[in-house]
Amino acid sequence: MKNMNNYDYLLSDLTKLNGVGKKTMEILKKKKVNNIFDLLWRLPKSYTDRSLTSNICDLQIDKVQTIKIIPTKYLFPRVRNLPNRVNCEDETGKIDCIFFNSYEGYVKKILPLKEQVIISGKISSYKGKYQITNPTYVSKDSSIIETVHNKYSLTEGITEKIYNKIISQILKNLPKLTEWHDQRILKKFDNESWNNSIVKLHDTKNINNYKSGFYKRLAYDEILASFLVNSEIRKKIKKIKKVSKIFDQKSYYEIINKLNFKLTNDQKTSLTDINKDLVSKSKMFRLLQGDVGSGKTIVSLISALNVITSGFQVALLAPTEILARQHYNLAKKLFAKNISIELLSSKNENIEIKRIIKELKDNKIQMVFGTHAIFQKKIIFANLGYIIIDEQHKFGVRQRKLLSDKGGDNCDVLLMSATPIPRTLTMSVYGDMDVSIIKEKPNNRKEVKTYSKLENKIDDVIKFVKKEIIDGNQIFWVCPLIEESKKLDHQSSVNKYKFLDKLFPNKVALLHGKIKNDEKELILNKFLNKEYSILVSTTIIEVGIDFPNANVIIIENANKFGLSQLHQLRGRVGRGTKQASCILMFKSNLTVNAKKRINILKNSNDGFMISEEDMKLRGFGDLLGFKQSGVKNFRLADPIQNEDLFVLAEKEIRIIEQQNIDINKYKSLLKLYDQADIINDIV
Ligand code: ADP
Ligand code: MG
Repeated sequence: MKNMNNYDYLLSDLTKLNGVGKKTMEILKKKKVNNIFDLLWRLPKSYTDRSLTSNICDLQIDKVQTIKIIPTKYLFPRVRNLPNRVNCEDETGKIDCIFFNSYEGYVKKILPLKEQVIISGKISSYKGKYQITNPTYVSKDSSIIETVHNKYSLTEGITEKIYNKIISQILKNLPKLTEWHDQRILKKFDNESWNNSIVKLHDTKNINNYKSGFYKRLAYDEILASFLVNSEIRKKIKKIKKVSKIFDQKSYYEIINKLNFKLTNDQKTSLTDINKDLVSKSKMFRLLQGDVGSGKTIVSLISALNVITSGFQVALLAPTEILARQHYNLAKKLFAKNISIELLSSKNENIEIKRIIKELKDNKIQMVFGTHAIFQKKIIFANLGYIIIDEQHKFGVRQRKLLSDKGGDNCDVLLMSATPIPRTLTMSVYGDMDVSIIKEKPNNRKEVKTYSKLENKIDDVIKFVKKEIIDGNQIFWVCPLIEESKKLDHQSSVNKYKFLDKLFPNKVALLHGKIKNDEKELILNKFLNKEYSILVSTTIIEVGIDFPNANVIIIENANKFGLSQLHQLRGRVGRGTKQASCILMFKSNLTVNAKKRINILKNSNDGFMISEEDMKLRGFGDLLGFKQSGVKNFRLADPIQNEDLFVLAEKEIRIIEQQNIDINKYKSLLKLYDQADIINDIV
């Protein structure tokens, strides 16, 4: 294999390797190994030491051993299904090699009579004689066998032998990459170069050696690469020049005066951040992060007003139609009558949709609400100046960038998310954006009281519910989430509905995944108008919907949910001024871990803190469905174990940004690690 002396070799196709054909390549591709670099992260799990040879007389039964033998006689049976046998010996004793399912020609070839051959495998004994069945290694070349053999968690179709051959070949041919870190950083990792680190990573002596310099260096590389990509996107978007919006004090105060509450300080600060961006000459790409119920919607609507009075159009995109309508209704209430706003809904008559499309094109509509349908090709804005996106934490970096491009240069972008993420992850998840955070809850809020109850105590719960209904309160009843089966989800909610409907006739409504959108909205509206007291549902109520009168949420089989998800669900209640409660129900006694989780929820209402704890308990991979979000999982770096490296990388990014350090310095790092390939647009 020719050494290409740069990252190209590592990014090349696996068939560049000796011994890897189309078949092996296909097998590995299925395991998401697309190039040589990807293979570097499949690490040995253990090893077998075959370096010591023994004499036959010293062999130990049931152990893997290596011996030098001379074949003396072939015994090929004439009966089918019996194995081929070869008598072998050394100066000290005799041993038989047994081969099942083998051709005579093959056996003769690997064990030629009267020639010394090295074999390695597990030794057994049969009728008082040593034997070795299908030896793992047979070769005349001792250097191939007498060494340490790494064991990998093997992929079907690829043997240990092939694996070791591939990996040692790669390690031998590693290109010398120019160091991208400064001495100051390298010092922290025992000055380990990338090459050395990779070699050490595959050395079985180092299995699980997470604390050493080489391991940390590689973990840090990974973190820095992810941060750098985001930082570059952010810089790139910031460079986009736009026509700035004008801040209109009059309409600002008009809308503020219409509110029946005072904005919290965090809401005001966020608004200031956003307004500053809107009136600046560069494009805004900002995230408004705030716990459930922190009041993000109103912030976004107030900021939209500036854009409208500046003569631009605004689009607000929500994940569901129900939510889009809720925001639309709020805007209808708050905005002056002369501002033309519309809801683009799948329920609109065709002729209505045509009208909206035409008026958007003719600049007659100033703000439109809807789901992602807003971005259909046929919808053309005359002068789109602002996109607001609600509750889309599942958008990955790449999708966000596409979105930002879509609106055009003059279009500012605000994303809103109620999903707090652990601080160490902010840069990997949202590093491409500027971030405003609302930490404070509106101060009329009382903390939701959280209880846990065993399911067989349901009578207590019913008693409690009765009392709440008499007090005029409304209840969400969330049914068990059975991931294995949508059908069962549905069934359990139907059963619960029947059960409750008997106890509280005409007071219970049911929502589940099979109910059509139209009907869903109807039910939700009735619930909002207090026509029902209890809403039984699966988790549909999770995102965004605002029901100030709902005071109690009961979550069955609560151990099926992650902490952050429970916190989100709990956030559906406690939006009014009354004391709200959340009852978490469990089928059986809680495990120690489950108890810990419940205590975290009982003791805290702080979504950020809860997400940190959630991550510690569940690990990064499972958190928030990051896998779907496009944020790739790290290969080595662990946000919990390597928190220090995340902090270090964040500091480094600030230095790189402040000193305007040329990104080309990190070119190899980015080319190798940014498999999402975003950086190709940039470097
Ligand atoms: P989220 O941040 O979860 O999207 P919403 O914007 O839906 O929260 O707001 C939740 C509720 O809080 C709404 O009923 C809203 O009118 C109300 N609200 C927003 N800001 C304040 C405030 N400063 N004081 C009191 N209530 C507020
Ligand atoms: Mg919201």
